[in-house]
Amino acid sequence: MSQSPHVADALKGFGTTIFSEMSALAASTGAINLGQGFPNYDGPTEVLERAVAEINSGNNQYSPGLGMAVLREAIARHQRRFWNLAYDADTEILITAGATEALAGALLGLLNDGDEVVMFEPMYDSYMACVAMARGRAVPVLLRPQADGRYVFDEAELREAISPRTRAILLNTPHNPTGTVFTGKEIECVASLAKEHDLIVISDEVYEHLVFDSARHIPIATLEGMKDRTVTISSGGKTFNTTGWKIGWACAPAPLLDAVRTAKQFLTYVNGAPFQPAIALGLDLPDAYFDKIADDLRRKRDILLAGLQQAGLITFKPEGTYFITTDIRPREPDGNGVEFCRRLPHSHGVVAIPNAVFYSPEHADAGRHLVRFAFCKTTELLESAVERLCASVR
Ligand code: PMP
Ligand code: GLN
Repeated sequence: MSQSPHVADALKGFGTTIFSEMSALAASTGAINLGQGFPNYDGPTEVLERAVAEINSGNNQYSPGLGMAVLREAIARHQRRFWNLAYDADTEILITAGATEALAGALLGLLNDGDEVVMFEPMYDSYMACVAMARGRAVPVLLRPQADGRYVFDEAELREAISPRTRAILLNTPHNPTGTVFTGKEIECVASLAKEHDLIVISDEVYEHLVFDSARHIPIATLEGMKDRTVTISSGGKTFNTTGWKIGWACAPAPLLDAVRTAKQFLTYVNGAPFQPAIALGLDLPDAYFDKIADDLRRKRDILLAGLQQAGLITFKPEGTYFITTDIRPREPDGNGVEFCRRLPHSHGVVAIPNAVFYSPEHADAGRHLVRFAFCKTTELLESAVERLCASVR
């Protein structure tokens, strides 16, 4: 679809997000949607019931500007319990409309015109658009797959990407779409460059609890000298299977958080009052809950991984998140992932996301032949999807 001439210069070329396009295609064709990352099952009953109770007891008006204290306090307890990070609930935690708004608030609140943001690509699609809206410049550093399926960056390339105009590094671990969980050594490398060049780090950790096997999530704010320069962002959507609630947050030292809040208050002001105490309840659930979601997802990953291999795709085994990246070339010698994903709902009744959308135009070739499948679905749905993918063209 060609873009309307009314779209502002800064947003030219961004079009409609792939998630809207592909979920609409799933709805219109009746295909199984392994595209947009949302579970087809609910989160914990007590979390859902708490939201219903909040609505029924009248928590239906604006929440305070920073978000409800009950949730900010639960986030402070969560950050201490899992990562041993201490944040003051009144000055260092902000509730946002999903992690997406926290990212937008951080970029709009912290960047001046022409400031550069170094980020790893492939990347979640809102990063480049938000940097553009903030009149900044995105400087992408490629992650490349190794033989074991992990995506890694080249330290020299990361160093070279930093210039006198660099204001921030935008990090995402566990990483969407590759499923890579950055190691201690990799995080240390990012941290030492941030310290050397006096940069802010915006750390998107929405998949912090979706980590498998021997991989461990390491928040960059836990590294020596990093907490004071890091905005850590997360969301209840992934951890509690409530992506539609859009309850996210940012944690940062007060001066940084204040910059994020200044922008955020003019985006939505506040959102989701009845959902906030419900996510607070979720964050206080026992460790067993968090272990179980990772364990269940690991099993789902293994089902889809084996199925995608059986369907003739090359897979990159994820260590975290709920996505598997595949190389379609054994099935599709031309390797055009966008065309493959547009055809797949019609030919096989399955929707997936072309990874090309997660790359900047200058590195578009790196993602052309890659396609992402989500495994946050019931076993039955994953099995049906695999069966469809293995069948010959309809
Ligand atoms: N960051 C990443 C890496 C994501 O995959 C997502 C997925 N939705 C988000 C941020 C946005 O999270 P939310 O839905 O809470 O806005
Ligand atoms: N984060 C999810 C994904 O990557 C959904 C994002 C969205 O719908 N904007 O699929």
